[in-house]
Amino acid sequence: QKFERANINQLIDSTLTILFNKYKGRIEIVKSYSDIEEFYCFPGKLGQAFLNLLVNAIQAIEDKGKITITTSLSNEKDNIIVKIKDSGSGIPEEILKNIFDPFFTTKDVGEGTGLGLSIVHGIIEEHSGVIEVNTKKGEGTEFVIFLPVKKDAG
Ligand code: ADP
Ligand code: MG
Repeated sequence: QKFERANINQLIDSTLTILFNKYKGRIEIVKSYSDIEEFYCFPGKLGQAFLNLLVNAIQAIEDKGKITITTSLSNEKDNIIVKIKDSGSGIPEEILKNIFDPFFTTKDVGEGTGLGLSIVHGIIEEHSGVIEVNTKKGEGTEFVIFLPVKKDAG
């Protein structure tokens, strides 16, 4: 596949549209977007990564809650930073080291396959990016993604 130009905010918005029925009326989505130039990426794959992260965030919020999505540029302007933060269950310390492993899941059959975050990890790696997680049980979880700004297709 080829790198294509994409706008990070539009990519996230299109995944939010896909998921609208899963969170409407229950979860408040707070967007804090920076005006970021188009960059080269695999847009379909990045969309899949945001979808997986947002599905997890939605599933982590049992009743009502909030998901905050932030986009920004690093100080050096060489990385796009995307933060997806939920007010859900949080991730217990003892399983944190496993969450990116394929087939690792704490969900019932049908709710999850345990592949979501391993796919996210692979996609971020294909973009030479980095993903970090900050979480506290009972308070929520934040995934932070750093994507190098690529200015050409090669
Ligand atoms: P799945 O969602 O199918 O279980 P994932 O790879 O997407 O698989 O996630 C692995 C596990 O990481 C989940 O089962 C859950 O325990 C934990 N997890 C991931 N994202 C979140 C989140 N936003 N809040 C709480 N737990 C999470
Ligand atoms: Mg998942």
